[in-house]
Amino acid sequence: MPSVASDNQTQPWMKATSEKLQKQLIAKYGEDQHARVDRGLLQVAEFWRAEDGDAAVFEDFVLSNFAGDQTTLNTMFNRFQNLLEQLNGHMQEINREFRQQADLDAGPVLPFDDLFAAYDPAAHVVDDFFKNKLAFVVLLNFPLTSLQERLEQGPNWSRQQWAEVRLAQAFSKRIPAAVNLEVARAASEADSYISQYNIWMFHLLDQNGQRFFPPKLRLLSHWNLRDEIKADYSDAQHGLAKQRSIQQVMERIITQTIPNVVINNPNVDWNPWTNEVKPAAEKDSDLAPSPGEKITNTAEPSTRYAMLLKTYQAARKVDPYSPTAPTLIARRFDEDREIPEQRVREMLQQVLTSPMVPKIAQLIQARLGRPLEPFDIWYDGFRARGAYTEAQLDAIVSKRYPTADAYKKDIPNILVKLGFTPEKAQYLADNIVVDPARGSGHAMGAAMRGEKAHLRTRVESAGMNYKGFNIAVHEMGHNVEQTFSLNEIDYTLLEGVPNTAFTEALAMVLQGHDLEILGLAAPDALSDALKTLNDFWNTYEISGVALVDMGVWHWMYDNPNATPTQLRDATLEIAKNIWNKFYAPVFGKKDVVLLAVYSHMIDSFLYLPDYPIGHLIAFQVEEQMKKSGAIGPEFERMAKMGHVTPDMWMIHATGKPVGAEALLAATEQSLARVNTAK
Ligand SMILES: [Zn+2]
Repeated sequence: MPSVASDNQTQPWMKATSEKLQKQLIAKYGEDQHARVDRGLLQVAEFWRAEDGDAAVFEDFVLSNFAGDQTTLNTMFNRFQNLLEQLNGHMQEINREFRQQADLDAGPVLPFDDLFAAYDPAAHVVDDFFKNKLAFVVLLNFPLTSLQERLEQGPNWSRQQWAEVRLAQAFSKRIPAAVNLEVARAASEADSYISQYNIWMFHLLDQNGQRFFPPKLRLLSHWNLRDEIKADYSDAQHGLAKQRSIQQVMERIITQTIPNVVINNPNVDWNPWTNEVKPAAEKDSDLAPSPGEKITNTAEPSTRYAMLLKTYQAARKVDPYSPTAPTLIARRFDEDREIPEQRVREMLQQVLTSPMVPKIAQLIQARLGRPLEPFDIWYDGFRARGAYTEAQLDAIVSKRYPTADAYKKDIPNILVKLGFTPEKAQYLADNIVVDPARGSGHAMGAAMRGEKAHLRTRVESAGMNYKGFNIAVHEMGHNVEQTFSLNEIDYTLLEGVPNTAFTEALAMVLQGHDLEILGLAAPDALSDALKTLNDFWNTYEISGVALVDMGVWHWMYDNPNATPTQLRDATLEIAKNIWNKFYAPVFGKKDVVLLAVYSHMIDSFLYLPDYPIGHLIAFQVEEQMKKSGAIGPEFERMAKMGHVTPDMWMIHATGKPVGAEALLAATEQSLARVNTAK
């Protein structure tokens, strides 16, 4: 039986009516429908509200919509699959058309264009389907499942059973509009708090009143601050001083001892060590001070944690309407990722406790010529010098691809170089539309057969540059995956991949071969090894960050009435514990809080674990591609598996479930190669 317990009040007549209907249906369709009857009645009762009708309406609905024999059930399944493909496909088409002006390089964007772009035609589909009872038809006939059932029984299900499971999942929650609105509001409030959290770097002073950063440099926490730390490795003169002050700034943000007045304010100078603030002695912005602003070092009042708490409180309101995943934590792991939280935790710990960590730390220390400091979790020095300069590559690319159309014409040729047969390459090219992008480029897949995938690519007036080409190859990788996993799949309800990490992994495989497409030599083994060490170190860093995110969400669920200050203290405690366990032994310093600096933790509802999982998956896919030799057929074989669980997909693709082994093995080999090259 599916586990469908919930806090929803069922209608007072529901129990008696369901018992009566159960007997009637079994009498009509036979004892072998007993389990399906029980399950269907339970699933419908779970979501039925007073507004859906009284006992008579319920009775009539159940008796006329229960598919009591396999033929009727198959007909129902096929029609739903077909019509939902039409619905999703056309919704996607409207969405793509409405976003056209915003997404494409097609002249100025007027204010109303943004309104079109923001409109989501599919926003009310699930609501409508409950109101017109199509959702109840699905719930009466197809099984809702828990992640445990999908993991344990899924490998033995037929492809059609999998498609039926995905069909039911589309209606596994019925969230009232008011609750959805509250979640959206909390998300957008947190997002706007984060998106304005800038530090004006020219106004950071050290102990001697010295300024290390240039005027006008405004860094958004945490992304730009972290990237500045990375960039500062190449500043031999002041890099270290800059990195240390950024660490100090980050710690002030995390502990909320940052003076409120310095946030997004170029009118004050700030010494992040002593926390002294004073009116800016030098001006680098026309931004006027807020009227009545007092220049004191009064700390930001835990706003960071108040924002996070609001997202939690909003997310929690969804819980009663999501019986198969009744917490945000469960929805993230059991539904979005479909890897149990405990397994994710174990994989992350496998990376964090790998014997590779101290060895690579030692190598970094040797390359830096100083002991590691905590901000070196963002070490960025494993870079190989390529055989070609960026300018040389730009010249080669712009000559070959002066326009987006020139790239489009070359797609079959490119795909043949990547190992697709000429027929497959032509077929794929016929299914990809190339558009000039307003931004750096993206891929937009179709959602029904007959529609094409769109490749949006950036072409400057002087022709495509190397960066644009590199991105175009990546996005084309998404388009190839999208085409196979929609057009060539056996059931469109299984269209796609288990989650975004998989399509990213496939796109990166093609992107990694961009030089060969240009007819240039592939990166040598040493560059490859350095890239792997860089990926490993990133995974090591982000694994700790993910564990902090997970720890904080558990703490919020355990302490639903916490204040922002209590949440702050708990976050610091969690971040320090994880640091002390997995980083302090390598960095030689305890109680560092830096792992809690990520802005996603505040506005992204437990998103951070996706990053390390993505790295692990990318290595597994890459390893399999190397083993098989030819990318084309292997890519197609993998992409046609569709939206099953990550483990099933990965076992089909590589013979093993999702795990850290491929990354760890590649790291070990790369470390040996880098060490012998020294
Ligand atoms: Zn991508």
